[in-house]
Amino acid sequence: MAADPKKLMGFETSADKKVPIRTGDWDAMKLALWRANSAWETIAREATVLLEACKHADGCPGKEDEFKPCLPGCPDREKRLSALVILGASKQCAPIDAKKVADGPYFAPSREYFSEVIAELAAAQIEIERLRVAAAVTTTTETTETP
Ligand SMILES: [Zn+2]
Repeated sequence: MAADPKKLMGFETSADKKVPIRTGDWDAMKLALWRANSAWETIAREATVLLEACKHADGCPGKEDEFKPCLPGCPDREKRLSALVILGASKQCAPIDAKKVADGPYFAPSREYFSEVIAELAAAQIEIERLRVAAAVTTTTETTETP
């Protein structure tokens, strides 16, 4: 029985396993990351504006340094804490590097993939119509039962 020595020594784990992914899906993932990045940049900017608008008591160390706590007498103490939470989350969730996909090369989807998407859309429209009819029936029964 020949066991993989790399696996036995812990050099290769289940996290090293690779999965094939469609280029279109991968591009969609990158686009989603890029959108998240720009959204978090906007959020960080707005949170910074909120932080700067906060009023402080005289001699508050939090006025100059975001890592220092506010004095108990600061009027916008709670608002500042909320803005700091938003700012911290934006810094944490922002991807390190997310390139705009629109700048990359474009590959048209295959005819089969296009047909699949069209079929899914048609099925979704049938489902929506079915739900709409069901909702209409429910609404009419509700109105007739409550005179
Ligand atoms: Zn303060």
